[in-house]
Amino acid sequence: MQQDKSVTINDVQAAQKRLLGIAHLTPVLTSTTVNERIHSQVFFKCENFQRTGAFKFRGAYNALAQLSEAQKHQGVLTFSSGNHAQAIALAGKLLNIPATIVMPDDAPAVKQTATRGYGAEIILYNRHTTNREELAQNLASDRNLTLIPPYDHPLIIAGQGTAALELIQEVGELDLLLVPCGGGGLISGCAIAAKALSPNCRVIGVEPELADDATRSFHSKTLQTVTNSNTIADGARTPYLGKITFPLVLNYVDDMVTVSESAIITTMLFIWERLKIVVEPTGVLAAAALLAGVAKAPGAKIGVIISGGNVDLGDWGLGIGDWGLGTGDWGLGTGEGVMGKG
Ligand SMILES: *Cc1c(COP(=O)(O)O)cnc(C)c1O
Repeated sequence: MQQDKSVTINDVQAAQKRLLGIAHLTPVLTSTTVNERIHSQVFFKCENFQRTGAFKFRGAYNALAQLSEAQKHQGVLTFSSGNHAQAIALAGKLLNIPATIVMPDDAPAVKQTATRGYGAEIILYNRHTTNREELAQNLASDRNLTLIPPYDHPLIIAGQGTAALELIQEVGELDLLLVPCGGGGLISGCAIAAKALSPNCRVIGVEPELADDATRSFHSKTLQTVTNSNTIADGARTPYLGKITFPLVLNYVDDMVTVSESAIITTMLFIWERLKIVVEPTGVLAAAALLAGVAKAPGAKIGVIISGGNVDLGDWGLGIGDWGLGTGDWGLGTGEGVMGKG
């Protein structure tokens, strides 16, 4: 392995200290059904329980906490299809830093609403006609804001790596770690942590077939792109790996694989039913590779990063309004429902 010093295990460990008492220590779940089906021991690191509903809070807080006082005062700007936006918005609120978010106008409503709810200013754009990075750069320089990109930033990568660091600290060394991949911030940080704490652990990144740029980049060793992917896994629609994440992925990741849209949906429903947790399509990419048999490791001890849970049920025709399910409609007055005291 060539050495790439842009982010090291020391940076991930420093991020963990910074996040202590601020980010949630997310639960690790297991499922007998899954273990029997896969013939392995599987540990799901559930970042859908992270603050803002995805691992992105880790990197966002780690980056914002280290700005200068002048930068904090001026404020930050980012571009994101959702989870990074919410993460920056909340980190900004906690650190008293004004946040401006450039977001595609088709980003899930639940993510737009949550981002506004944390007090950030949102600027919408059409992702089919506008280059978001140019737009963000122009706005940042016009308004004198610090641009915090969603993945191609050493402090973001180090923060994301704390998810794998925590997992391995809790369950011990792993044989295999499966990680969803969009722009590669999560997998870069997680691979750096895994190789340091569990040197024999293979790290495999998982993308949607419909947004397979990182998989093609990994295998061809030249940067490949995907344009305007419509994969249901909206957190992995990123067009390419970053200038920092691409070399890190080449150095630290052992393989990259893809999963179909139907595998993503089937896995999401399987996890809702079996693990009893709400996960979003991008959140189940790594689990889908395992359950669909794309990544196999019989007898192995496997870590799976469940990266987020911000699913917009309205997109599935399952909005609360669509069912007419106001709280009263279920007749769930005190005591009557499953949550009742009796
Ligand atoms: C952002 C995101 C990803 C991809 O992370 P990258 O750092 O861009 O590779 C995966 N899952 C969820 C839920 C996300 O929000």
